[in-house]
Amino acid sequence: MAKITNNLGLPQTLVNLARRDRYSRGKSRLSVTQIIDSPRVRVLREKHEDEITTDVSEMVWPLMGQAFHHVVEQGADSEHLPEERLFLDVNGWTISGGVDLQSLGINGAGDHEVIISDYKLTSAWAIMNNKADWERQLNLYAHLVERTKNYKVTGLQIIAVCRDWNRHEAGYKEGYPKAPISMVPQRLWDEAERLSYLEGRVALHQEAQRLQEWGESLPECSDDERWYRPGKLGVVKPGGKRALKVFEWNERDDAEEFAKANKAELEERPGLNTRCESFCSVSQWCEQFKKLKGEEQ
Ligand code: SF4
Repeated sequence: MAKITNNLGLPQTLVNLARRDRYSRGKSRLSVTQIIDSPRVRVLREKHEDEITTDVSEMVWPLMGQAFHHVVEQGADSEHLPEERLFLDVNGWTISGGVDLQSLGINGAGDHEVIISDYKLTSAWAIMNNKADWERQLNLYAHLVERTKNYKVTGLQIIAVCRDWNRHEAGYKEGYPKAPISMVPQRLWDEAERLSYLEGRVALHQEAQRLQEWGESLPECSDDERWYRPGKLGVVKPGGKRALKVFEWNERDDAEEFAKANKAELEERPGLNTRCESFCSVSQWCEQFKKLKGEEQ
């Protein structure tokens, strides 16, 4: 288990809570959240689990998320089933997913139907940009529910609690959440699409495991998995600080032409691997990240 430090001397209760892993994958080899994430990150985390250190002060949002889940669980009734972990065998590995909320119903033919919801404590930006991982995660839950419980899933939604909601911005900004809590529907895939995605992802994780065991290089994290933000080209007057105009990295010809016309200079602003730089707990053991840093220099 990763080590949790308490550099700010926060109450021990927070440390105790952080050590209780609500997202434990139970007796499964892979959880849904691991399946949709990078195999490289997972394998490195498992390898270095005992060496990873996180300070409890950096866990404030995951802890708030736990607290929120705990509170809403108290509102369950006979038609709303909270917090169920489901297991399924896929290509020889047991996978599992912890479903936050199942809203149960019975259709005219007497069949059980269910709408799956997942709570997220997140930013307004994330809600406005509907993350692809939300759809993937919920569709894998749908697959688990249909395969293990024989219920028909009829809808998927994120219940997004916006941690930086601002009433003023809600008043004028297009697409901004209208309230601090909102429902964000997700597209329900058909069974073939879910199965193909699930089996493909499990195969990638199994291959990464094999490579790790054989001492070979792990598959690389994709741009999405590294939360890569592409570089920009700024056109700046000599001695100026602010760009007259900012171009995409692949618009160099236009940027150069604009710079020439305005007697300005081109300023390269390199892309950023946001996750590697600031959010990846295994970056210190990652050869891909070292290579990327080397290329930058
Ligand atoms: S440091 Fe970057 S490339 Fe390496 S495992 Fe983490 S996210 Fe992937």
